[in-house]
Amino acid sequence: MTQPFLPFAKPVIDEETIAAVGDVLRSGWITSGPKVQAFEAALSAYFGGRLVRTFNSGTCTMEIALRIAGIGPGDEVITTPISWVATANVILEVGATPVFADIDPVTRNIDLDRVEAAITPRTRAIIPVYLAGLPVDMDRLYDIAQRHKLRVVEDAAQAIGSSWHGRRIGAFGDLVSFSFQANKNITSSEGGCLVLNTPEEARLAEKYRLQGVTRSGHDGLEVDVLGGKFNMTDIAAAIGLGQFAHLEEVTAHRRLLARRYFALFGERFEADYGAQLPVADFENSNWHMFQLVLPERITRADFMERMAQQQIGIGYHYPPIHLLALYRARGFGEGMFPVAERVGRRIVSLPLFATMQESDVDRVVDAVKSALT
Ligand SMILES: *Cc1c(COP(=O)(O)O)cnc(C)c1O
Repeated sequence: MTQPFLPFAKPVIDEETIAAVGDVLRSGWITSGPKVQAFEAALSAYFGGRLVRTFNSGTCTMEIALRIAGIGPGDEVITTPISWVATANVILEVGATPVFADIDPVTRNIDLDRVEAAITPRTRAIIPVYLAGLPVDMDRLYDIAQRHKLRVVEDAAQAIGSSWHGRRIGAFGDLVSFSFQANKNITSSEGGCLVLNTPEEARLAEKYRLQGVTRSGHDGLEVDVLGGKFNMTDIAAAIGLGQFAHLEEVTAHRRLLARRYFALFGERFEADYGAQLPVADFENSNWHMFQLVLPERITRADFMERMAQQQIGIGYHYPPIHLLALYRARGFGEGMFPVAERVGRRIVSLPLFATMQESDVDRVVDAVKSALT
């Protein structure tokens, strides 16, 4: 009996959302309009009334956040080597210098001790990443930022629905960036949003997302900063609104699946199989991913092949950024961030998505155990 293929992630769009997209397509207004405004208003309410602006990707959201913070040539920005390459690329994009700090082997997030050690007189900002939806110690993060007068651009791309001891990620802090790319917990197909501090920052965000333009009256138009073309469409916003309506239940279901993973792997899994489970955080994490660090005795490629034979898709998040050619060419290389290098070689993401069943978890855990035997 062959089993159906189980992907590691899958966007799930309900019929109401598909109908809402149809309505937008029939409406005569398909680019940024009322749906974008409604999506921004819904997100703002969710983030405790803070200002929110949407964009067409999480990447440009972070780039614009750096521009709003005034970061550019000569400035250093500290971030993690274990993230999607976008996190560091945006630092290069604004002409600033990426500085990596190694990760914590348990949380797999940036190690805040190493952040402090990496601060120089040129440091202007920190970009923490909440890998798999698990936040860093937010009290400690903002204590460091305050003491050293640094901006924080939170790469919360994976962390919508996550919290820090009862406070939603995004509802507090400095500039907080989310992604609605297809594999995130909620999607707009592609897109992102930025939570901002002041009306001035929100106006700047609007300029940067559309050619620097400010309109006034019937025909007034001025351009006083260099902006790009980063606006979200109403088609995307209609998808985002439809997904946002399910955020709480999606997060709850992901937590349920993660709990089942822990229950089935069991207390002895790490000792018996030599693999490392994620932090069992059911208070703060939105369980964007369930990631294992494999033991030394199997290569990741072999593990992925064995899982593929069982019709199970395995993700890989992420190769260490500092070892990619673009970053090696800037002087980074092997041995600089040993924890990130070890984890980056052996980390895998197991299937986890909104319509996955508990029986699918059973199947994955059986397959993992036999692949590691
Ligand atoms: C998805 C993601 C991004 C980029 O978001 P896009 O919407 O794909 O541009 C950046 N950082 C992290 C950690 C991500 O997971």
